[in-house]
Amino acid sequence: ETVKPYKDTDTDKKQQVADMFNNISGTYDFLNHFMSLGIDIIWRKKAIRALKTAKPQFLLDVATGTGDFALEALDILQPEKIIGVDISQGMLDIAKEKIAKRRLSDRFEVSLGDSENLPFADATFDAVTVAFGVRNFENLDKGLADIYRVLKPGGKAVILEFSKPKGFPVKQLYHFYFDHITPLIGRIFSKDYRAYSYLPESVARFPDGRQFTAIMHQVGFTEALYRPQTFGICTIYIGTK
Ligand code: SAM
Repeated sequence: ETVKPYKDTDTDKKQQVADMFNNISGTYDFLNHFMSLGIDIIWRKKAIRALKTAKPQFLLDVATGTGDFALEALDILQPEKIIGVDISQGMLDIAKEKIAKRRLSDRFEVSLGDSENLPFADATFDAVTVAFGVRNFENLDKGLADIYRVLKPGGKAVILEFSKPKGFPVKQLYHFYFDHITPLIGRIFSKDYRAYSYLPESVARFPDGRQFTAIMHQVGFTEALYRPQTFGICTIYIGTK
């Protein structure tokens, strides 16, 4: 077992989140695609395509997990290099397996790192990406501010995150699926069913749409846009420094 507990700027919540992802890392990819019926792949591609015209060469993928968002960015944008950071060693170990298998080690590197205290100098990256990560940050403002800090002037942040659909009947269907079905699937397939009860709870209390772009503006982004996907189940946020 190579999983080490996260121990940097440790706090209880952060440690709990890291432990939770260490626990579910083995089934994470499968459950992602299964629970979203594969739609997560389409959302990821669409979010990354928002960076196409900017042609970023040096990218940071925050909360990279098992690396799927960064791998999509490598494929679509063909940058020189992507660095991925995450607080869960278990998730990073899966990313490392993919990197080795696809012989991408010169273009994609991953290491332990906290979104709220990124181990990089100011103005380092052309673009920063985060998929399904910001919701887990202990302190959202601090995480977004640090993403802003490591971006070069003119650089872009692309953030993909769950949001709350508002219209009938999608809102009702969504709540039924998210509140009852995903915890059940999680309970059957994952080692940690609490992780999949945590999912709907964490989406419910998380800011979305205009509320989220307001926080992006507060931390300094000059431009912040949002594009709801699939009836608002998920939203792509694009910020410019
Ligand atoms: N980006 C990947 C994807 O799209 O599949 C992984 C998303 S996964 C739902 C969330 C990830 O955020 C986990 O791997 C977790 O360890 C990581 N995470 C949570 N809080 C973090 C933080 N403060 N800094 C860095 N990573 C964090």
